[in-house]
Amino acid sequence: MTSNGLPDHGTASRGGSPPREADIIVIGAGMGGGTLAYALRDAGAKVLLVERGGYLPAERQNWEPKAVFSGRYKPAESWVDSAGRAYTPGMHYFVGGNTKMYGAALTRFREEDFGELTHHGGESPAWPVGYRELEPYYTAAESLYRVHGEVGQDPTEPRHSRDFPYPPLPHEAAVARLGDRLRAQGLHPFHLPMGIDYRPGGKCVWCATCDGFPCLVQAKSDAEVCAIRPALESGNVEISTHTKVLRLKTGPDGKRVVAAEVERDGERFELRADTFVVAAGAANTTAILLRSGENGLANGSDQLGRNYMQHHMSAVMAVAARPGQTVFQKTIGVNDFYLGGAHWQYPMGSAATFGKLTGEILHQARRAVPAAVLDQLGRRSVDWWLMTEDLPDPENRVTLDASGRIAVRRTLNNHEPHTRLIRAVKKMLAKAGYPVAFHQEFGLETNSHHCGTARMGTDPAVSVVDAHGKAHDLENLYVADSSVFPASGANNPSLTIAALALRMAHQRFGVTDLLDRMHSPLSPATR
Ligand SMILES: Cc1cc2nc3c(=O)[nH]c(=O)nc-3n(C[C@H](O)[C@H](O)[C@H](O)COP(=O)(O)OP(=O)(O)OC[C@H]3O[C@@H](n4cnc5c(N)ncnc54)[C@H](O)[C@@H]3O)c2cc1C
Ligand code: SF4
Repeated sequence: MTSNGLPDHGTASRGGSPPREADIIVIGAGMGGGTLAYALRDAGAKVLLVERGGYLPAERQNWEPKAVFSGRYKPAESWVDSAGRAYTPGMHYFVGGNTKMYGAALTRFREEDFGELTHHGGESPAWPVGYRELEPYYTAAESLYRVHGEVGQDPTEPRHSRDFPYPPLPHEAAVARLGDRLRAQGLHPFHLPMGIDYRPGGKCVWCATCDGFPCLVQAKSDAEVCAIRPALESGNVEISTHTKVLRLKTGPDGKRVVAAEVERDGERFELRADTFVVAAGAANTTAILLRSGENGLANGSDQLGRNYMQHHMSAVMAVAARPGQTVFQKTIGVNDFYLGGAHWQYPMGSAATFGKLTGEILHQARRAVPAAVLDQLGRRSVDWWLMTEDLPDPENRVTLDASGRIAVRRTLNNHEPHTRLIRAVKKMLAKAGYPVAFHQEFGLETNSHHCGTARMGTDPAVSVVDAHGKAHDLENLYVADSSVFPASGANNPSLTIAALALRMAHQRFGVTDLLDRMHSPLSPATR
C-alpha cells in the first residue's frame, strides 16, 4: 500500500521488473492519460501507463499552506521565458498529474466555444468536433469524476442530456447571501459543477485547503482516485511510475512509433507497443515529441509547440465590512460576462469563487503585511477566480533551449477583455456588499491551464493531430491531453480533456460499449 492508502501498483512495478511492452502505451498519468487508461480497462488490450512521478504521499503537509506554497509538490525544474528568464512552472509530476492539486471545478466548455467566436483580440477558431458530438462524453466524464451541480441555472450552460450525477454543493451562509444579492442585480449566479466526494457518506470533510492542495483524505475527484485506481484494478492496465519518457523512436519508414526510450532509477531502456498515446501535458508532450527527431515527431508542418495558450487569470479578493468567514467557498459562479456584457460586445470570460484565501495563505505571498491584518482580511473576504480566453497565436510557442530545457514564448493577446472583466466583477461585488476588492493577475508561471501545442484539426498544414487526436504524420501515435485544444475557451479545461479522452477510446480504440458501461450501476464511474 502507498502512504495514501491506495494499492501501490507503481512501486510494485518498481521493485520488480516493470513491463517492457504492451499493446498500448499511454505516456503521462494525468487527466488525459488517466481517463484514457480508465476507458481502455476492458478494451481487450494490455495497457501500460508510463508516469515520470510517483504516488503523491498522504502526509500532514498536504494541507499546510507553508509547505504547499514553498513548492513541496513542485518539481525541481525550471523552464525559460522568451527573455531567457528561468521560472518554476506550475507542474506536479505525480500519478494523477496536475489534478492532484487542482480545484476540481469540472465545467463544460460552452457550445459557442466550439465554433468560431469573435473576440476583441481576434478570432477564436472552430474545433473539428462540436459540442453536440462531445456531449455524451461530457456526461460520462461527469459520472466518472462524480460531479455535483445543477442544470438550468446558468444561461450560458449548453444542453445536458442528463442531470449531474450528484446534487449541487451547498453554499455557506456568506456565499448564499452573496448569491441572493447578485440575483437582485439581475445576474445569474449558479452552483459551480464540482468534483469532490460530498455524497452522503462521502469522504470529504469540507476543508479550506482544497484548491491548490492535495486532498489528504482522497476525497477530491482527481485522475488517480477516479480513473487510474479503477483502471489498475482491472488487471489489464499496469503503471510504471518514476519512469520518464525521453523520446519516441520510429521504425525504418518513419511512419510508426516502435519504442519509447525511458529513464528509470538512472537506467535507460526501451518500452515497445503497437500504439502510443502521449498525454504528458501541453509543454511536456511537445518536449517529448521535439526530442524524438531532428525536427521533432508529428511536426511535418512545423506546427508542434505553436499556439500555446494558458488563459488570462486573476484572483479577486472581495472584502466585506463585517466578518463572514467561509471555509469551502468554491460553490458559486457567474457567467453573465462570458459572451459579453451590457456595454461591451466581446466575450470577457468566467468568474467563480475559488480556494479560500486565509490569513496563513496570504502570508505566503505578502510577507510585508502584518499577519493580523491578513487574518482579518481573510475572515471578511469571498475570493474569486477570473478567466479570459487566450487566443491561439502561432508565435506563442513551446520549444527546447540549447540545454534541452522547455522554453515558452508568449506575447499577451486579447487582454483588454480581462481588464474589463476584473472591473465588472469588482463592480458587481461592491454592489453586493463587498466595497473593497484587491486583485492579482497571474503570469507565465501559473500555467495550470496550458494547452494548444498539438492542436487538432482537419488540415495537416495548420494542425498536429486529426479530429480524434491521431498525429497526421504517423499511423500509431495519438495525443490525449490539453495539447490538442484548438482554442482555450474561458472555462476550466479538465472535463473537456476527460471528455476527449473518452471519445478517443470509444471512437478510435473500439471500446464500443463505453457509454453504456459508464452509466451502468455496476460501473466504478457510478459507484
Ligand atoms: C492549482 C491548480 C488548480 C487547478 N484547478 C482546476 C480546476 O478547478 N478545474 C480544472 O478543470 N482544471 C484545473 N486545473 C488544471 C488541470 O489540473 C489541468 O488542466 C489538467 O490536469 C491537465 O491535464 P493533462 O492530462 O493535460 O496534464 P496533466 O494532468 O498535468 O498530466 C500530465 C502527466 O504527464 C506526466 N509527464 C510529464 N512528462 C512526462 C514524461 N516525460 N514521461 C512520463 N510522464 C510525464 C506528468 O507527471 C503528469 O502526471 C488546475 C491546476 C492546478 C495546478
Ligand atoms: S474540501 Fe473535501 S475534497 Fe477538498 S481537500 Fe478538503 S476533504 Fe478533500
